[in-house]
Amino acid sequence: MRGGTPERPHLSTTFDSFGLAEPILRAVTELGYREPTPIQAQAIPVVMQGRDVMGAAQTGTGKTAGFALPILQRLMPLANTSASPARHPVRALILAPTRELADQIYENVREYAKYTGLKSAVVFGGVDIKPQIATLRQGCEVLIATPGRLLDHMGQKTVTLAQAELLVLDEADRMLDMGFLPDIQRIIHALPARRQNLMFSATFSTEIRKLAESFLNDPVLIEVARRNATAENVEQLVFRVADLDAKRAAVARLVRERQLQQVIVFTNTKIGAGRLARLLERDGLNAAAIHGDKSQQERLATLEAFKKGEIVVLVATDVAARGLDIAELPAVINYDLPYSAEDYVHRIGRTGRAGASGVALSLMTGGDERLLAEIEKLIKRKLPVESLDVGPVEARPRRERREAPEGRRERAGASARRRPETGSRVPAAVGYSTDPFFSQPYEPQAVAATAEADAAPEAPARTSVTGPRKPARPLAALLGGGRKS
Ligand code: AMP
Repeated sequence: MRGGTPERPHLSTTFDSFGLAEPILRAVTELGYREPTPIQAQAIPVVMQGRDVMGAAQTGTGKTAGFALPILQRLMPLANTSASPARHPVRALILAPTRELADQIYENVREYAKYTGLKSAVVFGGVDIKPQIATLRQGCEVLIATPGRLLDHMGQKTVTLAQAELLVLDEADRMLDMGFLPDIQRIIHALPARRQNLMFSATFSTEIRKLAESFLNDPVLIEVARRNATAENVEQLVFRVADLDAKRAAVARLVRERQLQQVIVFTNTKIGAGRLARLLERDGLNAAAIHGDKSQQERLATLEAFKKGEIVVLVATDVAARGLDIAELPAVINYDLPYSAEDYVHRIGRTGRAGASGVALSLMTGGDERLLAEIEKLIKRKLPVESLDVGPVEARPRRERREAPEGRRERAGASARRRPETGSRVPAAVGYSTDPFFSQPYEPQAVAATAEADAAPEAPARTSVTGPRKPARPLAALLGGGRKS
């Protein structure tokens, strides 16, 4: 079974048994999905029935197919080959918090939909809006968007959502954390009242509960265990090294010895990420850094190069890496143990996804015992610690060794809404820190400008309901209240 989540509901165990149409099954088979992940086993029949869903699941569980496949199934009767944009109105809107996530969802939906005749598109901020306008003019049944850019398009009337019958809010907790609530509310008000709603969130704060109660109608709760909290398919090892100077040599050695072809190395600071990437390059490794000080274009280009295998070592901060889905990433290395144990769980969740096996290697020095103890407490297991002697290494200048966590330096000038990229602890329940790259508030922009924004549309729900009826666990179980009706 895939997904690393032990629980398997008593539902279908093959994609065939859901009653999905042949074009959808063909795409899934071509992707090599042999059996549904637990969230897919639960979500697909429920969404096909037209029910609202509150999903407690993280990225990496197969969640995207869990909502996208049944959405496509519901939209298939509307597929047509007409060249007229009017015949391809937005039927389903998928909102995601960041451009990276929106883009990933789009890539998945495009694959899943490729034999259905349904059109999909993605719009997000930070890039020129004009090509998006041209795409939207051609029409699409499924629109994936970040909230800010969608509002831009709505304001410019380059998209209409009057026929959107289905709304997905993905990573809702992160959206709220980034201050998107007012944008989301504006978008929801612009949608037809009669629609199917799906909401996914990894955490459940009071705000998430309120949001769920305000727009979900009698939702079915779908819950999968936090796969990466147990992650039995991820081998975790800790290496004790002599000092900070030995860490870089240790990274290079681990990458070479283990012949890692694609690895994300986490640092606690943006400045540390940039520096480590440069030093690894100097050591002859193909490395690049991705963090909040890089421009959107740089980040996308780096990510693309990493996905293609042109970059072997991607050095990243927590914020920059969150939500990235790199299929079958074999390894992550914690150059720094994270300040928040919760971040450790997120980091190792980059590997061993959807059933693939992975390795999570962490480096520690003498002062890191407390951080390790907190991680072990959170994941409820002891991690094996080995000594790694990398021999004599060139010492860095003293100034570099005394680098402060970037978050601390940033905070003074940061707006109230912006949290440090790393540094002092972030409350575990909040989990997602933000940087300016992710969290710029929505500001309408001129068509010509290249700027921030997000947005997105997605599919409707409609016709027949097939497949077994899902044992509906009331949302109350999760949200602590009564079922909404
Ligand atoms: P997600 O949680 O939707 O971001 O999916 C994580 C990764 O798992 C993606 O790379 C998907 O392509 C992959 N995936 C999703 N469902 C399956 C499945 N049933 N079998 C194998 N891989 C899957």
